[in-house]
Amino acid sequence: MSLQAFVSRRVVTPEGIRPAAILVDAERIQAVVSVDQVPTEGYEIHDFGDRAILPGLVDSHVHINDPGRAEWEGFETATRAAAAGGYTMLVDMPLNCLPATTTVAALEAKRVAAGGRCRVDWAAWGGVVHDNQNDIEALAAAGVPGFKCFLINPGIDGFTMVTEQQLRAALPHVARTGLPLLVHAELPGPIDRATDALADADWSCYSTYLQSRPDQAELEAIRLMLSLCREYNFRLHIVHLSSSMALAELRAARLEGLAVSVETCPHYLHLSAETIPHGATLSKCAPPIRSRENRERLWEGLRDGTIDFVVTDHSPCPPAMKRLNEGNFRTAWGGIASLSVALPLMWTEASRRGFTLPDLARWMASEPARLAGCDSRKGKIAPGYDADFVVFDSDREFVVAEERLHYRHPVSPYLGETLRGVVRATYLRGNPVFADGNFPGEPIGREYRRG
Ligand SMILES: [Zn+2]
Repeated sequence: MSLQAFVSRRVVTPEGIRPAAILVDAERIQAVVSVDQVPTEGYEIHDFGDRAILPGLVDSHVHINDPGRAEWEGFETATRAAAAGGYTMLVDMPLNCLPATTTVAALEAKRVAAGGRCRVDWAAWGGVVHDNQNDIEALAAAGVPGFKCFLINPGIDGFTMVTEQQLRAALPHVARTGLPLLVHAELPGPIDRATDALADADWSCYSTYLQSRPDQAELEAIRLMLSLCREYNFRLHIVHLSSSMALAELRAARLEGLAVSVETCPHYLHLSAETIPHGATLSKCAPPIRSRENRERLWEGLRDGTIDFVVTDHSPCPPAMKRLNEGNFRTAWGGIASLSVALPLMWTEASRRGFTLPDLARWMASEPARLAGCDSRKGKIAPGYDADFVVFDSDREFVVAEERLHYRHPVSPYLGETLRGVVRATYLRGNPVFADGNFPGEPIGREYRRG
């Protein structure tokens, strides 16, 4: 089965959407040809008719929690949910796992833990914490695609925030690697002040939580990072932008020529504060989901290119940590898991705003691949690339139910929603890893290494 042809009337290539046949030799794409050029002999032909074929999606922001907190998620379940969602490459965040990925030894422990357990390919970001400046260049040499830091306490043991002073000690090392620094951009000052003022408020109201994490916290953090970017000349990436108030300054920074990129997430583009019910802590995340008007401005940011791409920030936890009985937004774990439904969530929202499947392929495959340094092999349907595909029934609707989630704990704010677009199959390097609800074969996912 080394020669295969994947045929569809709607193949999503970098040049647009068209009828085509993707010729695959073993793990790689050989050529993308017109349908009448499919060789009549030697190729196993998969004809998907009107179903679209997109490049396998790349998620550069996932919390797999393994090793160390595999009861929260784990390589088997995260990569299974990824395959079901059309993703063929995940990049794991350096926190929530134990040890956190802040040393080469921790990276090696992760490689051992992942062995033989992944249904899609993966890589791991390195962490920048208060005291590991001297590990940064060693982590780069050991193969991480870049680094992640927090400007505020991440709320989990094993990973510390960095102050401006600690960041200044780390940035010369980061700059020397040439790799991006991903930043959780909220500063503690505005959040601590707002939270203190809400001591007696009703924390089962979403509006209380929203007031406790004001736009100002994001705005001030992004201003700080832009000025440090100017000073230290490193590649800056803002993760999960939630506040549209920062868009104007980000746009100006790009015009100025700073090396800054920006992501947001499906939950900020789909949900809004006005519709989050009392006590519905499933929708808690940080930074928070803001107003409907803010959401529409984020869509404008995607439209004009200020926001480069969309990642899940898949961040699961055991259900008890969501404190659903109390519905307390102060004590519940912040994080939304969405690997298996992110593509339909995005298509539901994007298609009604006039966006197309090539827009989705850019936001959810080629641009995140670029950040993660795997863009010569992942994120596009083009010769030489890995034969990673999603077969997507873009006109069909479905209702989100627990059995469609596939991650460890089927907890989701989206249960019961009707979404547009069904992932029918996912291929990793020419092999089916998801097909009509099943996960054929052994886990063949492996670490993607630069170079
Ligand atoms: Zn995250």
